[in-house]
Amino acid sequence: MRQWRHSGQRFIRWVLPVGSVLLVAFMTRMNSLPKQPNIIVFLVDDMGWQDTSVPFWTEATAFNKRYHTPNMERLAREGMKFTNAYANPVCTPTRVSLLTGMNATRHRVTNWTSPNRNTNTDYPDSSLSPVNWNLNGLSPVADVEHTVYATPLPAILSDNGYYTIHCGKAHFGSAGTPGSNPTNLGFRVNIAGSEIGHPASYLGTDNYDRPVNGKPSRNAVPGLDLYHGTDTFLTEALTKEALKALEAPLKQQQPFFLYMAHYAVHTPIMADKRFVDKYHQMGLDGTEANYASLVEGMDKSLGDILQFLDDHKLTDNTIILFMSDNGGLSTTPLRGGQAHTHNLPLRAGKGSVYEGGIREPMLVRWPGVVKAGSTASQYVLIDDFFPTILQIASVKSPKLIQPVDGRSFLPILRKSTWSDPSRMLVWHHPNRWIAQEGPALAWASACRQGDWKLVYQHKTGQLELYNLKNDIGEQHNVAAQEPQQLKRLTTLFTNELQKMGAQMPTFTHNGQAVRWPSEVLSRQLSSGR
Ligand code: CA
Repeated sequence: MRQWRHSGQRFIRWVLPVGSVLLVAFMTRMNSLPKQPNIIVFLVDDMGWQDTSVPFWTEATAFNKRYHTPNMERLAREGMKFTNAYANPVCTPTRVSLLTGMNATRHRVTNWTSPNRNTNTDYPDSSLSPVNWNLNGLSPVADVEHTVYATPLPAILSDNGYYTIHCGKAHFGSAGTPGSNPTNLGFRVNIAGSEIGHPASYLGTDNYDRPVNGKPSRNAVPGLDLYHGTDTFLTEALTKEALKALEAPLKQQQPFFLYMAHYAVHTPIMADKRFVDKYHQMGLDGTEANYASLVEGMDKSLGDILQFLDDHKLTDNTIILFMSDNGGLSTTPLRGGQAHTHNLPLRAGKGSVYEGGIREPMLVRWPGVVKAGSTASQYVLIDDFFPTILQIASVKSPKLIQPVDGRSFLPILRKSTWSDPSRMLVWHHPNRWIAQEGPALAWASACRQGDWKLVYQHKTGQLELYNLKNDIGEQHNVAAQEPQQLKRLTTLFTNELQKMGAQMPTFTHNGQAVRWPSEVLSRQLSSGR
């Protein structure tokens, strides 16, 4: 008896725990994730879906042949390509969604934020009045006027053991509000990020500034004094500083979160001298050659980061998520050539809810979890990064102020064929972001479910229905031919907009709000149109 008790105690004290550890280790290996991998979000500004030599469609397009991005090609070979990844039509809405998991409809930062506080960036419009959107952006502090108060992703990661680094363009909130400074959002280190949405200059010889009447530009890039007066292109300076900042977490053996948000390839479209010559030789006009050099400079940065991971034996325990914040700019004369042609076959570009404004090149590499060279066709939205990254970081039930609209795409990372055609994605842009008029460049909403896409034009009340499977260019509006799909989608879409508290602009001539899509449709049906 005594003998048994002894051996029983021994069993409980030694064998059981060791066995449990082995069992847990086995289950971990079978079933779960590497413990707190390093996470890099590599976010490019204004990069279009085809501004890369990696094709994200069924075939390589003329644009894929124009651009040279060997490091993105490597990432695609070693990771997963998302062929239906989406962001919002302009900058700040995407960045706020990424940091909060909220849909832009709900967080109400529906347009780009001015660097100056309390400044509405809506371009004046003769027929529609702007909504009361959150024009000062994201705030980690309650009761800041015109902001969305939310728990930001880097703050949660920091609380859960991550060393958090912000590098590049922030553009989360206006000057004088807490959200303008990345260190208030949970980033331990901030390199060159502030309230500005684009650089005054990409050149070190300009000090990344372009003074006006002897005064620094509003968009002078802060924090890179080390490179002032040198020949270092902004993209390169940011990369060098990011890699330098990684030394601290490596020394401390702490997992890191690097938010590498390039100012490239946003305007001013300036030549990156390291790469521009070959694009001139290809016969591109000045602006388009400069643009291609910005793209390749960004790709070089990606390559340097991949090399750093290899050199420090970090590749296997680091997940990289490559993304852009909105579609490629397609207005002229900011771009060369003809307006609205820079994303063809996609319709329109930055600012639009048509595919050219929201469809993005997205890649994810995560050795051991993501199958090399795989392709996922399930559609995902920028809102999804927040819950996905929290899951990757093994953060369970974080305390959040905000409701999360995004869904984790971890199941897709594990199995590229995972699909959910019933999910609905929603875009809401009750704003006018520039003077130019163009295809759904202002005042529009849209949704996607399965292959169906519905576009709602606020000014005209037009509802357009497209089937993206055979009409990725949104050239054939089949609303009249598909009345049942139109009705079904319009009802679901209206419910989603209302559920998230969508703000609708008002008509200046009578002060009436733009109608919900379902109201428009039932009026059309009752009038026999
Ligand atoms: Ca942008």
